[in-house]
Amino acid sequence: MPKLSCNISASLMAALEGRQQKTGETMDHLVMRALADTLQVDHATLFQVSTSGALIEGVIDGAVTVAELSLHGNLGLGTFADLDGEMVILDGTVYRVRSDGEVSVANQADLVPFAVVTEFRPESLSELNEVTSYDDLLVRLDAQRNTNNQFFAVRLEGTVDYLKTRAVGKSAGDRSLVAAAEQQSEFELHDVEGVFVGFWSPSYAKSVNISGWHVHFLTADRQAGGHVLACQGASLRAEAQHLSDFRIAIPETAAFLSADLTRDPSAALEKAER
Ligand SMILES: [Zn+2]
Repeated sequence: MPKLSCNISASLMAALEGRQQKTGETMDHLVMRALADTLQVDHATLFQVSTSGALIEGVIDGAVTVAELSLHGNLGLGTFADLDGEMVILDGTVYRVRSDGEVSVANQADLVPFAVVTEFRPESLSELNEVTSYDDLLVRLDAQRNTNNQFFAVRLEGTVDYLKTRAVGKSAGDRSLVAAAEQQSEFELHDVEGVFVGFWSPSYAKSVNISGWHVHFLTADRQAGGHVLACQGASLRAEAQHLSDFRIAIPETAAFLSADLTRDPSAALEKAER
């Protein structure tokens, strides 16, 4: 571990010593915690761009670039401007699965209207064998969560006998997510290796996120993937992390600022995402 040596004011030193006496924490720990707070590192943070409700209302122009999003983590999912494909962020690379099935690495300047991302530091590792269905997978992932009131991220790597995914396509005319989902492309993959990226959100977050599970997939050869609708026969190595810090980048675009976001998006999200 590197050593830090610096000069601080007498009053800060007195406050540090006071805190140390009170809590019994070591000086090293106190200083590291304060630095981590200020520098926003070492928190299990979910960083989100915009809200699911805005997506439902057709605010799909893109609020941040892929480059900006990448600063906030290495594991994530979302979509792109004009709902032009599904996003999978894996090991720090941002991939786009388009509605024609093509997978590409996103350009740094591409715009993102909605995404979630975290700096993934798994706190548990387990084997999920003989997963029979998508519902079975979600039940087994639920068993790894120890609360319904924190966010949760998973990275599942392994083999799948059958997988059904979808990718939304570039939207023209009606720009809502529900309209895009009605025209989505669906893909069926057989006997593939790959990685699932999943996030679970508490129900209290339903107006900003998608409550419950939201899972995307990318094959090991990075040739196929999308938003997961169904699966059968999977054997997976599951890594998981609770996320206790939630940050949201509220777009400053005219479309977002003038959107009517008073409606409850739950029913529309259920229709568009399941
Ligand atoms: Zn999705």
